[in-house]
Amino acid sequence: MNLFNLFRQPNKVRYTLCAVSALVASLSLTNTTALAANPQQEKPRVAIAIHGGAGTILKSSMTPEQEADYKRVLTQAVQHGYGLLKEGKKGEVAVVETIKILESSPLFNAGIGAVYTFDGEHELDASIMHGGSKNAGAVAGVKTIRSPIEAALLVMNESPHVMLSGVGAEEYAKQNGLEQVDNSVFDTKFRKQALDKAKARMEQASNGYGIQQGNERFGTVGAVVLDGEGNIVAGTSTGGMTAKRFGRIGDSPVIGAGTYADNSSCAVSATGHGEYFIRYNVAADICARMKYQGLTLNDAANTVVNDVLVKAGGDGGVIAIDANGNVAMPFNSAGMYRASIDINGKVTVAIYKD
Ligand code: ASP
Repeated sequence: MNLFNLFRQPNKVRYTLCAVSALVASLSLTNTTALAANPQQEKPRVAIAIHGGAGTILKSSMTPEQEADYKRVLTQAVQHGYGLLKEGKKGEVAVVETIKILESSPLFNAGIGAVYTFDGEHELDASIMHGGSKNAGAVAGVKTIRSPIEAALLVMNESPHVMLSGVGAEEYAKQNGLEQVDNSVFDTKFRKQALDKAKARMEQASNGYGIQQGNERFGTVGAVVLDGEGNIVAGTSTGGMTAKRFGRIGDSPVIGAGTYADNSSCAVSATGHGEYFIRYNVAADICARMKYQGLTLNDAANTVVNDVLVKAGGDGGVIAIDANGNVAMPFNSAGMYRASIDINGKVTVAIYKD
């Protein structure tokens, strides 16, 4: 029937229009039903991994209460970050908010609970990198910024630079409204005792410098995430090494060494003996092995941590994530405080080599 004939028969017009609208309605219904039947499709595929430092962390030297405390804070932090990602928050927001929980806990060597310098103060370092924009921000040797990772984010988002240090970084953070505190806010008894021990050992050492013991240093914190937009982001925050002096800066604020992110390979946050991580460009090397050698995340991270670093004598570990949400958390020390939630929602919280 042609259109002219159709309009000469009003009933047929009505039936045809009804049929068309029924078809349109049923098509949109089918669509809604399909989404309702598979709500998973609607939710972003997100994942997160965090660390609270690697070192001589032995079950034999930890009470059940201490172990429970570490696991509780790790669980709280990883679930908070995962929740933000599920809500659709950007990766950098999830990284910073997760790390802020760890910086606020006296258990970890970052923010409150940071190790002491030789002179009895705290000098904090932090960095963040976005794997999509390849933008990055870092602060080094800051003493009065309440949350160094917030300052790193500020540098990444608002400044034309990548790394700011010392009083300049503090002034920049102040001018941009970040919370300033007295350095003593970061004090803890446990870290003061570690400083006293380290200084006693340094007095005996021939060069007056002493040797860093793993258990006087561990506690650096970090997070790597895959967000709902498919970006991977890494961040790290630390007090560095006990009894450090002369303005020593470790790997944590150094992009490429302690933190790196590139959507086409991986995002990494490291913890360990910083001098080695800087010299071996650890975080970027893991990503480069994926990119140029076609290694899996697991193989790339394991090769660098358990082969390259072990041969060099650098102890520590990393957390790493790729754009598919795969997670790797290798370490070559006795333990590494760590936790993750993968793209299927599976939660892992661990300390020792299980
Ligand atoms: N990597 C940090 C530094 O060398 C310390 C640590 O991760 O334990 O400053």
